[in-house]
Amino acid sequence: MIYSIVKFGNPVLEKPAERVAAFDEELKKLVEDMFESMYEAKGVGLAAPQIGISKRLAVIDVTFKEDPNAKLVLVNPEIIHTEGKHTQPEGCLSIPEFREPVSRAREVTIRAQDINGNWYEKTGDDLLARAFLHETDHLNGKLYISHISALKRDLMKRKIRKLMKAGEW
Ligand SMILES: [Zn+2]
Repeated sequence: MIYSIVKFGNPVLEKPAERVAAFDEELKKLVEDMFESMYEAKGVGLAAPQIGISKRLAVIDVTFKEDPNAKLVLVNPEIIHTEGKHTQPEGCLSIPEFREPVSRAREVTIRAQDINGNWYEKTGDDLLARAFLHETDHLNGKLYISHISALKRDLMKRKIRKLMKAGEW
């Protein structure tokens, strides 16, 4: 099942999500649907709040279907180590059409549970590191625009409000 992506303005995107406690068939189905929805939306990462489900769950595939081993499921993830700095344009499926340079750590280690509830650690750099931080932020109710200047953020919000008024958001 393909979910539609919740856009900026919906409060679900700005509240901390709940921990996942049950590693059951329902979760497996949800993860499958999240990958499908992410690919449909041409994204490389998707957090559950972005489909309106306030759970600490995200999927990532920075290779976009090229490498099946690159498909990652992050349940209850935590950032446990960061290193370096890197500024790259960043976007979000929930804030379509906008991109802004965001400074993030270049190398990031997460600790998360897999689909079966087993804890694992994984270190990624560049795009994967950025995805770890971006998706974990989502689960804390934080969007990438909180990492840009207030001036740029206000400008972006003004443009979005205009689109909302025009019924184009
Ligand atoms: Zn996002």
